[in-house]
Amino acid sequence: MKQPFVSKDQLVAIAERYPTPFHLYDEAGIRRNVEAVLDAFSWNPGFREYFAVKANPNPSLIKILLEYGCGCDCSSYTELMIADALGVSGEKIMFSSNDTPAADFRLARELDAVVNFDDISHIPFFEEAAGPVPAVASCRFNPGGLFRLANGIMDNPGDSKYGMTEEQLFEAYRMLVARGCKTLGLHAFLASNTHGNDYYPALARILFKLAVRLHEETGAHVGFVNLSGGVGIPYRPDEEPCDIRAIAEGVRRAFEEVLVPAGMEDVAICAEMGRFMMGPYGCLVTRAVHEKRIYKDYLGVDASAVDLIRPAMYGAYHHITVMGQAGGPDKSAAPATRTYDVTGNLCENNDKFAIDRDLPEVERGDLLVIHDTGAHGYAMGYNYNGRMRSAEVLLREDGSCELIRRAEKPSDYVATLDVTPEGRAVIARAAHAEPGVK
Ligand SMILES: *Cc1c(COP(=O)(O)O)cnc(C)c1O
Repeated sequence: MKQPFVSKDQLVAIAERYPTPFHLYDEAGIRRNVEAVLDAFSWNPGFREYFAVKANPNPSLIKILLEYGCGCDCSSYTELMIADALGVSGEKIMFSSNDTPAADFRLARELDAVVNFDDISHIPFFEEAAGPVPAVASCRFNPGGLFRLANGIMDNPGDSKYGMTEEQLFEAYRMLVARGCKTLGLHAFLASNTHGNDYYPALARILFKLAVRLHEETGAHVGFVNLSGGVGIPYRPDEEPCDIRAIAEGVRRAFEEVLVPAGMEDVAICAEMGRFMMGPYGCLVTRAVHEKRIYKDYLGVDASAVDLIRPAMYGAYHHITVMGQAGGPDKSAAPATRTYDVTGNLCENNDKFAIDRDLPEVERGDLLVIHDTGAHGYAMGYNYNGRMRSAEVLLREDGSCELIRRAEKPSDYVATLDVTPEGRAVIARAAHAEPGVK
């Protein structure tokens, strides 16, 4: 059974201090996981995990990973800015963008980031926008067609906007070598939220073989192979977690079979995991506000899709545990006797965290934990219906809690209207209306 990382009593105490809804993060879980990742890849002395900032851009969480020597994988100006504010620069930033604005390339250059070119045309574009290409750069590969593993089709790169064709990749490498690049990397992201332990090893084998050919045919020094993100997590209770040690061993076998015989054992392995680093170590804490019985039973909670859009956007499953409330029973292990659609308050019928979900009987005021929101949770939030995004709270290893992002207020929502007198009037009103209740 999937268990939250907090007990009912702990959560009741936290929710007395911080009004729901909020995303809650588990420092201990984040630490044990990054330690396991680094240990699993310790056979590769140059290994580095560049945390995918887009998955969770909260600096207080990224800071934990930085303690372990992780870098930042950024793909936008703002993400670069966050990395910079955290003191991250140079080879500790992987800039893996696409359709990249000139200003983003300029900032990447200023921070001396490793630029991972998504397209061959971005090389001259970068030069025009930001000046000479950096000494350390990388290219993103798209093999086209379908990406298959033994257990079936994993994804459809032929339909994806990312990366260059093989022919373009060789040409891009020649261009970069001619421009004096000293170290080149190779990157691909071919499947998302993968299960089992075969994805990284299969991807590594493809990229290692390509790296050998790139080295032989262009004379480039291939310094690193970047396996990017895509390692999945078990959102459903019946799914097995990925075994990072088995994954790393699979990559090591490919390394020993392909790169070592080619005399390329100095290649560093990089990863840009987002979901695997943070996903299981966050949850969305929300409270039951309404129960509505029409043709189905609806449980209305105080969070909505603006706090977690994955179910609405992808039909993604997020497990839900009913915890109970102060003075009431602990329901976290209670049997499921009811079937609910768990909804938010947006005027949008896909604003449902779960459809036909079997849960214990819920009473108004009960706390619910929506699992696995640590990655692509808060980060994908938005403001439809004038709904504010929630706070973020970090549960420290010592059991204390820290507010690491306050909830949005109505004045945040209207702040960008300041360009007209009407807008300024709205802003003035919002200031009076605060604190906004959510
Ligand atoms: C989204 C993304 C990642 C992280 O992917 P996860 O599935 O969260 O591991 C890494 N690199 C790039 C370039 C991405 O776009």
